[in-house]
Amino acid sequence: MSDAADIVAIDVFESARAAGEPITVALVKRRVAELLAHAPECACGRCEAAATARIGHIWQVASAWERSMAATRRRAWRWALIAIQRDQVAGRSHAPTPRGPQ
Ligand SMILES: [Zn+2]
Repeated sequence: MSDAADIVAIDVFESARAAGEPITVALVKRRVAELLAHAPECACGRCEAAATARIGHIWQVASAWERSMAATRRRAWRWALIAIQRDQVAGRSHAPTPRGPQ
């Protein structure tokens, strides 16, 4: 069973990615307000979690995920650059390989 903050953090993380926005306290507050506007009989589970989770905690969880995603992308990019440089040193070209006869 997830903590309420984790449930809302998933929602915040997804909506920030969909909107291409960084995760900020303002974004967390906006999403929480949207979730709290759900009908009382709503069974999505997120609005219920939004009612109990703390903004600061949601923000902490969601921005930690954002940072780890950014670090993964930076790492992937660094490895790609190293591979290209190694190939250039070895004299291999990164030009598209010509296709054979169709
Ligand atoms: Zn709901």
